[in-house]
Amino acid sequence: MRGDGVTRVMVTGGAGFLGSHLCERLAAEGSDVLCVDNFYTGTKRNVAKLAKHPGFELMRHDITFPLYVEVDEIYNLACPASPIHYQFDPVQTTKTSVHGAINMLGLAKRVKAKVLQASTSEVYGDPEVHPQREDYWGRVNPIGTRACYDEGKRCAETLFFDYYRQHKLRIKVARIFNTYGPRMHPNDGRVVSNFIVQALRHEPITLYGDGQQTRSFCYVDDLIDGLVRLMGSPDELTGPVNLGNSTEITVLELAERIVAMTHSRSPIVRKPLPADDPRQRQPDTTLAERALGWRTKTPLEEGLKRTITYFDDLLREGEPSPLAVASGAG
Ligand code: NAD
Ligand code: UDP
Ligand code: UDP
Repeated sequence: MRGDGVTRVMVTGGAGFLGSHLCERLAAEGSDVLCVDNFYTGTKRNVAKLAKHPGFELMRHDITFPLYVEVDEIYNLACPASPIHYQFDPVQTTKTSVHGAINMLGLAKRVKAKVLQASTSEVYGDPEVHPQREDYWGRVNPIGTRACYDEGKRCAETLFFDYYRQHKLRIKVARIFNTYGPRMHPNDGRVVSNFIVQALRHEPITLYGDGQQTRSFCYVDDLIDGLVRLMGSPDELTGPVNLGNSTEITVLELAERIVAMTHSRSPIVRKPLPADDPRQRQPDTTLAERALGWRTKTPLEEGLKRTITYFDDLLREGEPSPLAVASGAG
């Protein structure tokens, strides 16, 4: 706590998609926010609006190296999250998860801070249990191309629980399921951003496999609300806690919905399914509902509308916007 009673919160990966929304929420609530990022996939632009906020500070730093600061709470979000980004330099991905976790836990231990880990549904791998509950141990290929991310995140969870048992640290582990919204990267290959950008440009929609695989998409504001509630929960609640939307849809249905919402002329084309692509994914969010009083509020239609508007504005900056042309707005 600062001398005047203000909570000092550090967000690693704070210039990324989720991190920038979290920084905004925390700053709006009156916390002192230290955003730490090495800009590997995040950008200063994502937090540009916050630059003038008196409680906000941006620090360029790679969390695989030690960091000495004084804070009360740490949200550890630093890690590339999309397969294209995390597979670009897989060794660095594992280092970020594992060395990064060790450094953030060491820091939390020294300053007695509470520390939250942004874990992932990927710890369940390609699951045999459906929907996934927190007590399911998962089915991960330890030597596959997704392993740098999945196993890195699993090892980070191990470290969090060992620091909890061994050093009595106050920890929180959130297992985040597919989340979407404004400030997703337009080129990171994730399905929502890919389909929206392709649809707005009237380019072919790339459907991997038969499109019958399912995902459950959570709107970013709902997810951030879950993270903040988890951090504020009693110390006994360590998690892991699933955070995600439990409405499941097939990837083909998602493609069709986005084409319709953007009035796109894009055809849907089939592409090969990537290796180890999970067939089904849906969180069981009973624990989050019971322990945090958390529920998602944003229907897919509404979240997609806001995300489409974001990408339409983004494309408009670089080229004539297909939506603007379609509506005659210029
Ligand atoms: P993102 O790529 O937009 O954000 C990650 C941020 O971490 C970026 O700003 C990047 O520059 C930064 N970063 C990467 N390596 C770093 C390092 N070594 N040191 C400092 N900063 C570093 O991804 P996101 O979607 O915002 O994901 C944030 C976190 O949430 C990640 O840990 C991710 O694994 C987790 N997560 C996200 C989702 C999702 O659907 N978006 C799902 C599950 C888990
Ligand atoms: N660490 C850090 N900031 C701190 C305290 C520790 O980055 O304020 C790093 C430190 O470099 C160390 C790691 O966290 O490698 C783990 O710290 P811990 O105290 O648990 O272990 P030790 O220092 O004994 O290796
Ligand atoms: N996907 C797709 N076309 C794309 C991008 C992704 O069909 O252009 C599929 C992908 O194969 C997966 C699902 O959409 O089945 C979600 O992919 P994403 O990379 O967004 O998330 P993850 O696989 O990590 O859940």
